[in-house]
Amino acid sequence: MAVLLLGLPTLVYYFWFCLAHNDGQPMVPQLVMLDDFPLPTASSVMIVAGWLVFQGILQILAPGRTVEGTVLRDGTHLTYKLNGWFAWWFTLAVLAVGMALGLVSPTIAADQLGPLLTTANMFAYPIAAFFWLYGKRFQSDDERVTGNAIGDFWFGTALNPRVAGFDVKFFCESRVGLIAWVVIDLSLAAKQYELHGMVTVPMVLVCAFQFWYVADCFLHEEAILTTWDIKHENFGWMLCWGNLVWLPFTYTIQAQYLVHHIHDLPFWGTVGVILLNAAGYAVFRGANLQKHRFRKCPERPIWGAKPEFIATAKGPLLLASGWWGLARHVNYLGDLLMALAWCLPCLFASPIPYFYVAYLIILLVHRERRDHDSCKLRYGKDWDLYCLKVPYRIVPGLY
Ligand code: NDP
Repeated sequence: MAVLLLGLPTLVYYFWFCLAHNDGQPMVPQLVMLDDFPLPTASSVMIVAGWLVFQGILQILAPGRTVEGTVLRDGTHLTYKLNGWFAWWFTLAVLAVGMALGLVSPTIAADQLGPLLTTANMFAYPIAAFFWLYGKRFQSDDERVTGNAIGDFWFGTALNPRVAGFDVKFFCESRVGLIAWVVIDLSLAAKQYELHGMVTVPMVLVCAFQFWYVADCFLHEEAILTTWDIKHENFGWMLCWGNLVWLPFTYTIQAQYLVHHIHDLPFWGTVGVILLNAAGYAVFRGANLQKHRFRKCPERPIWGAKPEFIATAKGPLLLASGWWGLARHVNYLGDLLMALAWCLPCLFASPIPYFYVAYLIILLVHRERRDHDSCKLRYGKDWDLYCLKVPYRIVPGLY
């Protein structure tokens, strides 16, 4: 873990360097790369600080309905204000007005990408350190705290750290990184226009797919409350840095690559990636919604039939029909199909844009194993029964 704490940020810088200074091609890491290390600028510090404050204010003040989260181990619930949909559109509207008035440059995020990366790191580490100590002192989740300083820093010491009622994990998971991802994409598209006088079809596809993905997350914001991260993952460096740095700077790799690579797609290629993305979305959203709705109302028909399920001694029901009868994490398959559709518009001159799909395969295969172990622990024999009924992990008939 100590290696990853330093290695993952180094990897993000490596990609940034290859994309900004090596024509998007991989290269053997060299010390000379340090000559171009992006130092923070006054603008980048103001942007990151302003972004965190602005999104924080929106989370507190924007209108939205208040809902109960899932049951915690002590039997209580936390409440969450679901105002992400408002925050998302309001942020885009404010930026659009700022651009129309000439107050915000459309290419600012693209121009400042390197300094923004360093600044985001400068914020993420102290925030993670603060909540590591805060969790230990005030809200320790004893079951998950190991006493190993590095492990606890990585995984966090509290499940839902809240300061004066402000939920920091929900904020990081569902606001700062997700919206920044799309804003950076759009800025990169504007940069492509500035440099080449056009926005190419591949850039439009990548921006549109990712815009849709994030908008959809906010449209179904309540479903975030039943994800693994919110229910089971403590708030540590992994989630903090992951959302503040990893997500906005690696999920935009395709758009970063396309800024300097002007190519078109054949008509059949354009149609193909749109269909692939649509298929991935149908599986991803269909499966996640099905589980969410089933948990809220187990009688609701699934694909026109009464849902099949495994009742557990612990209480929660395990859905075993619909998408969840095809594979135990078929929702991950949907994400992987979409990830591939986001990479393909970059064509095949460099492997770097494909990092995203490769990373997601590793992440989701590993995540499925972790979730499997944790469900096995929670549900024991009932989980075994479910595994017997639904033998595939992610890809029906294959894996
Ligand atoms: P899930 O939403 O699948 O949540 C897993 C939990 O759901 C389990 O711990 C269990 O919790 C419950 N569960 C498992 N099986 C069943 C069942 N058959 N019926 C009812 N409940 C069940 O996983 P994630 O939170 O990991 O993923 C959510 C979405 O986010 C996925 O689509 C994933 O692809 C996506 N994702 C995307 C990432 C990205 O970077 N693009 C990263 C991570 C996730 P319990 O029983 O305790 O309720």
